[in-house]
Amino acid sequence: MFLPAPHVARVKADAAERAALELARLLGDSVVSCEASALEGVSRDESETQGVLPDIVVFARNAGDLAETLRVAAKHDVPVTPRAGGSGRAGGAIPLAGGIVLCTEALDQIKDIDARNRVAVVEPGLMTRDLHRAVEALGLFYPPDPNSLEWCRIGGNVATNAGGPRAYKYGVTRNYVLGTEVQLMGGEVLRTGRRTKKGVTGYDATALLVGSEGTLGVFSELTLALVAKPPLVATVLALFSDDAAALGAVVHLQAAGLTPRCIEYLDAVTCNAVRAKGVALDLRAQALLLMDLDGAALDAELERHGEVLLGCAGIVDVQVAQDAARRDALWNARRALSPTTRALAKFKISEDVVVPITEMAHLVSESHVIAERNQIRSLVYGHAGDGNLHVNFLFDDTSEMPRVKQALLELMQCTLGLGGTLTGEHGIGTTKLAYLHLEQDAGLRALQLRLKAAFDPRGLLNPGKAIVATHAC
Ligand SMILES: Cc1cc2nc3c(=O)[nH]c(=O)nc-3n(C[C@H](O)[C@H](O)[C@H](O)COP(=O)(O)OP(=O)(O)OC[C@H]3O[C@@H](n4cnc5c(N)ncnc54)[C@H](O)[C@@H]3O)c2cc1C
Repeated sequence: MFLPAPHVARVKADAAERAALELARLLGDSVVSCEASALEGVSRDESETQGVLPDIVVFARNAGDLAETLRVAAKHDVPVTPRAGGSGRAGGAIPLAGGIVLCTEALDQIKDIDARNRVAVVEPGLMTRDLHRAVEALGLFYPPDPNSLEWCRIGGNVATNAGGPRAYKYGVTRNYVLGTEVQLMGGEVLRTGRRTKKGVTGYDATALLVGSEGTLGVFSELTLALVAKPPLVATVLALFSDDAAALGAVVHLQAAGLTPRCIEYLDAVTCNAVRAKGVALDLRAQALLLMDLDGAALDAELERHGEVLLGCAGIVDVQVAQDAARRDALWNARRALSPTTRALAKFKISEDVVVPITEMAHLVSESHVIAERNQIRSLVYGHAGDGNLHVNFLFDDTSEMPRVKQALLELMQCTLGLGGTLTGEHGIGTTKLAYLHLEQDAGLRALQLRLKAAFDPRGLLNPGKAIVATHAC
């Protein structure tokens, strides 16, 4: 943990103590813990952000526990950090002010799958993988598929508006959230949205809550849209001589009117890391695109994709995964890229910037120039279909942090200069707060603070995250 977070005043010790006593009395000692091991277990996520230890952990069992915790916290002026799977990459679930971490993992039930209306109603602690399995058994499909799906939870996905490879064809989490039940600071419960596919009654509070990174309310139930499960899926691997060729092919595929389920990109360093894990890749490939196609008429689709890819400059080979074993090997390698590349250095920072697809090649070459100028290493992979690339900076000693911070600033400036945005799926959390003012003007940031105050007037819910107007960290 080496990334500094914004400073947020720590909760007063006597207030935390009073809240702990009241919560333990109301919810029981098995739900409320102040044990060091419990506090440590919820003080980090996958972002390397340096937070502080909370004073209390509440392992909520149901919506009632969530509401009671938020009521007691407001009464004693104690901050609350909501938490789901802890796989976040922006520091959103890390406490900055102490107080309470509110764990939602045990709320993991599927309340309803209405197959005829293609709707699921679930609790926020449900693992994303488990929702996929349950709906697919009924011939249905929940498309959002963050690569952490064996670990993250639906509540965390909704709070970050998670994407994933399939977002290229199917969209991100927001496109599937029809409604929420949300617990507000102080214990009030609201229901937002609807169960139907369409609906425009009032302001779209559901859309505002999706991606709010636990700063507006705590989800206790989510109503999600489902689609029909695509009958067939094929995996295509396109190997290229260089980055520009691979990323140019994404533009060609789109211009040809083709919409594979996903288009994932790996640069040369990442290809080598995958080879080192035992996945056979033609040595001539210095960049690749991994694609899934789905639908009913795959032979014709495969042919059209093959034609376009083989017509691209710099193409080395196009292969269709011939069996499930090859397909699994390729996708398991893709899903494991984060830990695989993490092993290449002592420290790794992974960003999730987005640029227009025509600017991806420029972003990748600039990332390497920025890394070189700041004497650190870099690699890039990501969701190329959406222009959402994970630029990774690698280094071996924390004394290099000033240069890493300079490289991150230059990366954000470059991204915005190319018409892009700071984050495509991880959220602002704490890690990107320092750059928020580069993308959003003062008026918009002030409006968001006023919205926050309408939900949480005393700023007790997940303080120091997502929208705080600071450039100080
Ligand atoms: C290897 C790896 C691969 C990844 N791949 C992807 C990817 O492909 N796409 C992608 O989008 N992300 C990806 N991520 C990032 C991460 O998995 C996502 O951001 C995920 O949505 C976080 O879910 P979580 O359950 O772990 O949430 P947490 O990390 O626990 O929390 C994330 C945020 O949600 C808030 N929150 C949690 N529960 C609630 C609730 N009930 N109500 C209100 N707010 C809540 C927290 O306060 C925090 O701000 C990846 C991470 C890793 C480590």
